[in-house]
Amino acid sequence: MEKQVGAENVAAAVIEPIQGEGGFVVPAPGFLPALSALVHATHGALFIADEVQTGFCRTGDWFASEHESVVPDLITTAKGIAGGLPLAGVTGRAEIMDAVHTGGLGGTYGGNPVACAAASRRDRDDARAGSLRRAARRHRVGDAAAADRTGQGPSTRSASVRGRGAMIAIELVEPVAARRAGWADTDAAAAQAIAQACHAAGLLVLTCGTYGNVLRFLPPLVIDDDTLHRGLDI
Ligand SMILES: *Cc1c(COP(=O)(O)O)cnc(C)c1O
Repeated sequence: MEKQVGAENVAAAVIEPIQGEGGFVVPAPGFLPALSALVHATHGALFIADEVQTGFCRTGDWFASEHESVVPDLITTAKGIAGGLPLAGVTGRAEIMDAVHTGGLGGTYGGNPVACAAASRRDRDDARAGSLRRAARRHRVGDAAAADRTGQGPSTRSASVRGRGAMIAIELVEPVAARRAGWADTDAAAAQAIAQACHAAGLLVLTCGTYGNVLRFLPPLVIDDDTLHRGLDI
């Protein structure tokens, strides 16, 4: 920020508190607060959290930023906001939101009444939100079960199991023997093969990551334990 663009030219830093498409990368503890402090010290630039994938209880709190005790100036939301119906939002401090002229913040489908009804129904129901938060935390069970299945044996391809709550991924690399020899090659082919085998067995999983070698699990928060474990068994 200082050397390349000049601190006075920085308007904001936009970051996913846990990378989604990038491979479910959880930042090191303290990174987000430090980044937030840095941008605020930089000519009053804004700290913007993209919570589109991580928001609405996915990680076990309302927003993933909360795990790191940072309060973003703006957050972007979508996906879980209306339980799958198309809706997105930008939320921020009044002084920022009100700085936009009337009609200056919008989109073709902004305010779709059916999607808004789904979103407001969801958020009004505190008991339901509480149960979704608990559900996401409980999905660490799935995390442990997955680690158990992938963590052992000379042919293991699991480099790490990571994520938070109901946002968990397994990164696949060449087998352990190759890694011990000093090179850990990403294994996108293995990720693709596993995803296809899962699809054939009736389980939908997606891959992600810069190198396409990460399998991600994003179970619906309303999933029951039996269905979750059936999926993990596959
Ligand atoms: C899906 C996704 C988006 C795109 O959201 P749209 O509502 O489709 O624009 C943006 N950021 C993250 C982190 C996402 O996962």
